[in-house]
Amino acid sequence: MTLSTAAQAAYIVAALLFILSLAGLSKHETARSGVVLGISGMVIALAATVVLAADGAATLTVVLLLVAMAIGAAVGLWRARIVEMTAMPELIAILHSFVGLAAVLVGWNGFLEVENGGGALAELPGSLLGVHHAEVSIGVFIGALTFTGSIVAFLKLSARIDSRPMMLPGKNSLNLGALAAFAVLTVLFVASPNLGLLVALTVVALLLGWHLVASIGGGDMPVVVSMLNSYSGWAAAASGFLLDNNLLIVTGALVGSSGAYLSYVMCQAMNRSFISVIAGGFGIEAGPSGDRDYGEHREITAVETADLLKEAKSVVITPGYGMAVAQAQYPVAELTRRLRERGVEVRFGIHPVAGRLPGHMNVLLAEAKVPYDIVLEMDEINDDFATTTVVLVIGANDTVNPGAVEDPDSPIAGMPVLRVWEAENVIVFKRSMATGYAGVQNPLFFRDNSRMLFGDARQRVEEIVSAL
Ligand code: NDP
Repeated sequence: MTLSTAAQAAYIVAALLFILSLAGLSKHETARSGVVLGISGMVIALAATVVLAADGAATLTVVLLLVAMAIGAAVGLWRARIVEMTAMPELIAILHSFVGLAAVLVGWNGFLEVENGGGALAELPGSLLGVHHAEVSIGVFIGALTFTGSIVAFLKLSARIDSRPMMLPGKNSLNLGALAAFAVLTVLFVASPNLGLLVALTVVALLLGWHLVASIGGGDMPVVVSMLNSYSGWAAAASGFLLDNNLLIVTGALVGSSGAYLSYVMCQAMNRSFISVIAGGFGIEAGPSGDRDYGEHREITAVETADLLKEAKSVVITPGYGMAVAQAQYPVAELTRRLRERGVEVRFGIHPVAGRLPGHMNVLLAEAKVPYDIVLEMDEINDDFATTTVVLVIGANDTVNPGAVEDPDSPIAGMPVLRVWEAENVIVFKRSMATGYAGVQNPLFFRDNSRMLFGDARQRVEEIVSAL
């Protein structure tokens, strides 16, 4: 068996492991083994690639390859070890930008290789060379779009730039114009490949990527992150075609299609149009609701909350991003245990985009050993709020905003939310009257049945536990 056949066989094994990994990741119980299968697939894929690249290559090439891998692995391990759970989305966003950049470099390399008459590519017959140049153009386009789009997502998620949508006049025409320019440039590039056209194509894609993500509003960012995940997959698949690497094509297609499906599911959960989000069109405008006077809010203390909970028949806890910031999941789990011991029915209501990444709250609650069977999804719990005695809104804001249902002018109008305001009592844990991620005021805080429990969520929950 030649080295190349062995590597192809290893690629098939790796591809199967990636598919099994995705299957494992789809359920809590099998997620851990899914991660192990994914890591194993990646180790096999990397080893096969290095062996293949080293075959017959100069020693310096092999050394450079190993040094680059060592640096990449060291940086990756370091960042992954220190990253806070709340900073995961921005880490994911910046990683997507690397995939995009790699696809651009692979595309450029594919072009320059032919220009310099190098490799087997120069011997391709005319029609296949045309296909090659189309691959270069598509790969560079998707890669460049993913690169700048992911950088903007990173900047927005890490609050380095404003998360509100950028509203350039005629933004849809700009996007459509960029797509048309890409199509024309690709045709010209295939007909007569030259550096100027490739530069122009790259610049158009970089600008389009920036504009697409900058135009999307705060509340739609979760979909954008998974959409960029999908784009990064397609960028990798395009690189696979250029490098003639089947594993990269399979892996890219897996990431691309699963990312696209996740975006679609999230759009459905958020009541957003999939097409308009991927077209960068679903921005939010600062509506009149931002400045509206909602009246006075009322406050409650931790001891009073404990008294209320003692008398409650049923309690629903709806956690959000603030629970993650405060790391309040441990006292929340303890509070749940105490209340259940007293015979109070306690359940959790999880909004699909609570926190800053899909499944964020589920991970935190699982970490604190809250039983899975009392952690319910939004649709499973929404009809039960009307018969709930107390709802504890712990660091959630946008996901419990009645404006989304009741105010057509609200920037988040139409987004399904947890209807916590239907309960007898709502206690909102947060530090101030500040808005949530989407930058929208929340009329819930001013309702007659709502009371604010100000302060760090962890401290406040601990105080309630000791008062109990
Ligand atoms: P929000 O971001 O709407 O609100 C979180 C609230 O937590 C804030 O109002 C803040 O108020 C409070 N908070 C912060 N720190 C603390 C603390 N230490 N103690 C107590 N409270 C605290 O959260 P939600 O989870 O309700 O909504 C998620 C938002 O994030 C949605 O808009 C969603 O679209 C977006 N998003 C979600 C992603 C996902 O995949 N899940 C990805 C990207 C964005 P205060 O400052 O007053 O304390």
